[in-house]
Amino acid sequence: MPNTTIQIDIVIAGGGIAGLWLLNVLRSRDYSVVLLEAERLGGAQTLSSQGIIHGGMKYALGGALTPASEALSQAPGRWRACLKGTGEVDLSGLEPLCDRFHLFAGAGALGRLAAFFASKALRGRVEQLDGRDFPKALRNDSFRGPVYRLEDFVLDTSALVERLATLASGCIYRHSLTADACTLDGNVQVRLADCNLSANRLILAAGDGNEALLEGLGLAGIAMQRRPLHQVTVRHPHLPPLFGHWLAGAGRAEPRLTITTHRDGGESTRGGLLWYLGGQLATDGVGRSEEEQRRQARLELETCFPWMDWSLATFETWRIDRAEPFQPAGLRPDHAFAEASGPCIVCWPTKLTLAPDLGDRVLSLLPPPEYPSRIPLNLQPAAVGRTPWGA
Ligand SMILES: Cc1cc2nc3c(=O)[nH]c(=O)nc-3n(C[C@H](O)[C@H](O)[C@H](O)COP(=O)(O)OP(=O)(O)OC[C@H]3O[C@@H](n4cnc5c(N)ncnc54)[C@H](O)[C@@H]3O)c2cc1C
Repeated sequence: MPNTTIQIDIVIAGGGIAGLWLLNVLRSRDYSVVLLEAERLGGAQTLSSQGIIHGGMKYALGGALTPASEALSQAPGRWRACLKGTGEVDLSGLEPLCDRFHLFAGAGALGRLAAFFASKALRGRVEQLDGRDFPKALRNDSFRGPVYRLEDFVLDTSALVERLATLASGCIYRHSLTADACTLDGNVQVRLADCNLSANRLILAAGDGNEALLEGLGLAGIAMQRRPLHQVTVRHPHLPPLFGHWLAGAGRAEPRLTITTHRDGGESTRGGLLWYLGGQLATDGVGRSEEEQRRQARLELETCFPWMDWSLATFETWRIDRAEPFQPAGLRPDHAFAEASGPCIVCWPTKLTLAPDLGDRVLSLLPPPEYPSRIPLNLQPAAVGRTPWGA
């Protein structure tokens, strides 16, 4: 198709959760959409994430409800509708890795947080458990702290990305979008090897790749920030499944450890369970070397779970940046972000959880669909990427 121009409604750059979610939502509204992914679907952040669909309690651990905790309060319900097949994207048949998430702490560590959890403001969002309902990893006489159950749950990010890609197959291509291949002139022209795409809108959903695209396209009014993390995977022959935040107490709102459990995809260890650790360990660990971070992770587990034999554990670390809209003082954004600049819409979901919120925001910025037909491009499809543990 040399020099052919194909007219479509929307080009999306980036095939993480933002791009894939938007692709599915927009196709269900009859937009003709092409998604261009530079590497592999799920990209950098999405398959590195812990997959927790938050109801906001994580952002109320300072002892008060916050704008961030309230922005997230509707999210689990919207995702659960999708899992039942009644939401905006059909995720029916996807089994969460866990259906409820936990909060726990050492005896006496919660201080005034315990009263906050029991308060009327949180009724229905936080439930304190009896010992017999504790997760298996915490059923030990040495553990004397409280355990709470949240409405949060955990998705298998590989399965999620795979499903979103399958639902929209035929529209997803491996191609790195560069600013110099784009002309913005009322609408958007994208030059490909053997044809031009002419689209009403270009959605920048490229995670940290948005930074170079914003600069190259001259969209100076929108800026990005990175918040780095140093996550840890733990392999151990006898790990029980555990999904929860080990709380630091009212003094520090960020959990000491955030623990999720995954099926190991490593070459020699395939099939066993591993723990993926975030929380303070990952944020404070940014300045640590890999060796120091492994040592710190071992120390944390020996301190929090002294009844387990950690001599059998092996540790690996994983560095990754969260890419988000710029906030003064590097603060965390409270909402998904979508802002129009000419024919471009710049997006960061800021959380996997907020993909439905991102969908709402982008839809509100779009003109109605104009070119409903789908024309295949002469590009390779993009394949699904891998998690840090090789799944
Ligand atoms: C360690 C970690 C844990 C997290 N845990 C959670 C959690 O438990 N719950 C939660 O709600 N959120 C969590 N998050 C946040 C969440 O993962 C991110 O907000 C979300 O995945 C970002 O998705 P994205 O699509 O914007 O970016 P990405 O997933 O990074 O995808 C961007 C894609 O764009 C592609 N790309 C880049 N440049 C170009 C280009 N020029 N052309 C075409 N494609 C391009 C990349 O290859 C990549 O595939 C976590 C984040 C991290 C880092």
